[in-house]
Amino acid sequence: AKQRGKANWVRYHDGMEQPVFAHARIGGELRRALDADEFRVYYQPIMDLARGRVIGVEALVRWQHPTRGLVSPAEFIPAAEGTGLIVPLGRFVLRESCRQAAAWLAEFGPDALQKVAPNVSVRQLHDPDFRTDVRAALADAGLSADRVVLELTESAVLRGPQVLQTLHELHGMGIRLALDDFGTGESSLSLLRAFPASIVKLDKSFVDGIELDEEGTPEAAARQAVARAVIQMARALDLDTVAEGIENQEQADRLLGLGYTLGQGFHLARPMPAGDLTRLLAEQRDR
Ligand code: C2E
Ligand code: CA
Ligand code: CA
Ligand code: CA
Repeated sequence: AKQRGKANWVRYHDGMEQPVFAHARIGGELRRALDADEFRVYYQPIMDLARGRVIGVEALVRWQHPTRGLVSPAEFIPAAEGTGLIVPLGRFVLRESCRQAAAWLAEFGPDALQKVAPNVSVRQLHDPDFRTDVRAALADAGLSADRVVLELTESAVLRGPQVLQTLHELHGMGIRLALDDFGTGESSLSLLRAFPASIVKLDKSFVDGIELDEEGTPEAAARQAVARAVIQMARALDLDTVAEGIENQEQADRLLGLGYTLGQGFHLARPMPAGDLTRLLAEQRDR
């Protein structure tokens, strides 16, 4: 019993201390990386499913690490949020994606790209300077507010009256708000009545396996039921929808059949550097 007690203490101690040390270390690394310009913005096309055309892009950050190569946001966004570095990092993604979208609009015209959609974390929404940052990013890029969609998760939006007021102000500027990973939270419906969303993004977990026969698996039937419910709700509330994580044509066809017109996923296009998207937009123009 004595030994077990000791082991428990060690585990408890480890559990309490490790994340703190890990965050302190990675916090310094992220700061250095930001100063050294190691972050890159990748762009994943959001497609018109029926016509196979790019209608917008989601901006997704990557870390071009000097020795580790291209690092996925899953590996550093949680630490960036924990240390508060997400505020300057998110500001960089916002500014860079607005600047890049303005450049694409200048080169390809107003119909080539309707929207640019950076992700915004709860820490940014709580930052008193966030609204000023957004205005400055638009002004410096020469981009109109109605070209911008801010992607927010439910947990970010559920943070009380101050955040809600910020969201209403952004909406008042003409910026659109998208509720990301829709269907994975707990109070999605009541939330949509409370905050000025224009778009819901159907989470990938409801797209996975949606192409399987309804009779085949109960899981596929459940996913189709959710996808159907989300589109009906979106219609009733006058929201646009984007289906996420489409990995094959059968899924795209099934979603089109359910009434989804916009989608995103590896089958349609992967996240890519700005230069690759420029080539894609040029191909699309010349088609
Ligand atoms: P998210 O906002 O839900 O972004 C969609 C993620 O799904 C992206 O992963 C994208 O590459 C991936 N994806 C797209 N299509 C498919 C598909 O067909 N199959 C699969 N398996 N995955 C697909 P990524 O770029 O690794 O980003 C992961 C998450 O990190 C994002 O999820 C978002 O929550 C966060 N993130 C990325 N960039 C930023 C950022 O600039 N700021 C903040 N706050 N969070 C970010
Ligand atoms: Ca997103
Ligand atoms: Ca998502
Ligand atoms: Ca997600």
